[in-house]
Amino acid sequence: MKPRPKILVVNCGSSSLKFALLEDEIFLAEGIFEKLGHPEASARWKIGDAAGSAEYPDANHQRALVAAVEILESHLGRPLPLDAVGHRVVHGGEYFDKAVRIDHDVLAKIESCRELAPLHNPAHALGIRVAKHLFPRVPHVAVFDTAFHQSMPERAWMYALPPEMHRRYAVRRYGAHGTSHAYVAARAAALLDRPLEELQLVTVHLGNGCSACAVREGRSQDTTMGLTPLEGLMMGTRSGDIDANIFSYLRRVAGMPSETVTQMLNHRAGLLGVSGVSNDMRAVIQAASEGYQRATTAIDLFCYRLAKGVLSMAAALDRIDALVFTGGIGENNAHVRAHTLGFLRLLQPAVDPVRNTMHGRESCGRITADDSALTCLVVPTSEERAIARQAADFV
Ligand code: ADP
Repeated sequence: MKPRPKILVVNCGSSSLKFALLEDEIFLAEGIFEKLGHPEASARWKIGDAAGSAEYPDANHQRALVAAVEILESHLGRPLPLDAVGHRVVHGGEYFDKAVRIDHDVLAKIESCRELAPLHNPAHALGIRVAKHLFPRVPHVAVFDTAFHQSMPERAWMYALPPEMHRRYAVRRYGAHGTSHAYVAARAAALLDRPLEELQLVTVHLGNGCSACAVREGRSQDTTMGLTPLEGLMMGTRSGDIDANIFSYLRRVAGMPSETVTQMLNHRAGLLGVSGVSNDMRAVIQAASEGYQRATTAIDLFCYRLAKGVLSMAAALDRIDALVFTGGIGENNAHVRAHTLGFLRLLQPAVDPVRNTMHGRESCGRITADDSALTCLVVPTSEERAIARQAADFV
């Protein structure tokens, strides 16, 4: 029998650390440390059927990773039997178009992309150093959110700016969520029982961050996020597409410094800004159902802008064999899917209401009628599985 590799997946966010232990894509354990660097830092985890939690006041990423390994080992009662460690890395710039084994050069390149992801890449680099120290003998593999989109043609990745903006300052469209778009595209192909190499898909990842991607024959051809994750769709706290003149306009009429505008566009806009309720779609839907008009407007705007994003991705394709919904909102909310498809009448989706409510996180599948002109699917994403799968290739 083929050995089943055990992979530790490490995802260092700006103030969080997620970890998962997988054996051949089956979760043995997973957990999260939150509020790292704060007095209220804490962790929750699940190992098999057992759940646990603990406070880790003022813990940093280093302490969190060491603690995660201690938690796993104390549960197992022995050292972790690992074959590889997969590290999620937000930004690989133009250096990486696929997952790579991490050596000095790779680590230096991840650190050199820090200006492109100032909250994430330094945390990833630290996590990699600590993990390499803890597990010096196994391959450490970096899996980049940006790598999948390196196949975009020039017309998709370039901004309409003078070329020195790219040459001197690396200003271009990079995209994000690539691991998720690639993963659900492959799963959609399996669901449709057709080779990925023959398919043209639009995938929409709707979590706290949201993006759409045109996937042609398994390769990203365009995506809605750009230099940073702010561009494109409306999100939990991000505005998505906005006229860049808003900076000079708000400085003139409101005396707002550009940092304040940047902060608003990234952290106080989107579902939160429009609804005034929350960045969490569940809370916004609840408020809308209680008759709160701003919440209804936020959902309408979210779905309309999503539909526009899907249509913009169609420019990179000859046809859409399937529109694939994923991410916390895309997987779980039938109303958001149906409302969005209402704005895509041009593509003639025939939503099957029973299928639409039936499919979600636990069951992937078709949400349109068999004879629908546009096929729509729900496919749960799993960045951890995708990272583990790619890390396992290096074992
Ligand atoms: P992240 O991008 O942080 O990984 P997720 O993919 O978990 O986030 O998505 C988080 C979003 O999914 C939140 O807006 C949350 O409200 C939404 N969500 C989760 N479950 C549901 C649900 N049952 N109905 C609507 N939205 C949901």
